[in-house]
Amino acid sequence: MQLLMIAPPGAGKGTQGRLIADHFHIPLIATGDLLRDHVARGTELGRAVRSSLDRGELVPDEIVLDMVREALIAAEAAGGEYLLDGVPRTLEQARAMYTIGVQLGMIPNIALHLKADDAELVRRLLARGDDERRTDDTEEVIRRRLKLYHSVTEPIVAWYGRRGILVCVDAMGPAEQVGRDILAALEAMRPTVDYVPEQLRRTIDLTGLDTAFGHATAAPTTPG
Ligand code: AMP
Repeated sequence: MQLLMIAPPGAGKGTQGRLIADHFHIPLIATGDLLRDHVARGTELGRAVRSSLDRGELVPDEIVLDMVREALIAAEAAGGEYLLDGVPRTLEQARAMYTIGVQLGMIPNIALHLKADDAELVRRLLARGDDERRTDDTEEVIRRRLKLYHSVTEPIVAWYGRRGILVCVDAMGPAEQVGRDILAALEAMRPTVDYVPEQLRRTIDLTGLDTAFGHATAAPTTPG
């Protein structure tokens, strides 16, 4: 599988990314982690991107795309499967990722979208800021990152929907539940990715399941 994940900050990309990569034994390419690693090591690239990360702004496309291309070449040598976490974040990056995919023969064939409400995301990120001391988990920067997500990243979800490779999962619940939903959806989709042409596929949307099965706000039934 050649997977990418689109999710707002705080939706659990890091946790779920590790779960998916371990479950399917595929390399995880997480741009945020790679960039933070450069900052921590004080490399030239790290010094160049540090202030963007601290402010919750996007780093220039060419920096991210070069990094991802290099990681994909390594993934190609390891069998060609991969999971991208944190990229693409804009429509330009989505188009560039497609081009890189064509060049390497590794076009993304599943786009996993994790959905959650802003209020819940802010709550989680503030809690993480207390625990992990990430420089971008302060309330002001969190709000900026969410705004950026809604304006430039979220619109690319529809683009993947039209390409027939979209899987949407509700990320509001506990991480274990979200993880189970993700793995079930990906296991169901996996057999189709190599054999069913993109134009014949349909989006898988698990986000309305609670309501469909009556878990959400079902009125109590009267006995007898
Ligand atoms: P993340 O760990 O995915 O939340 O990313 C942390 C920070 O890294 C972001 O707020 C950006 O500053 C930077 N970053 C990560 N991925 C990208 C990307 N694809 N394009 C631009 N900046 C990125």
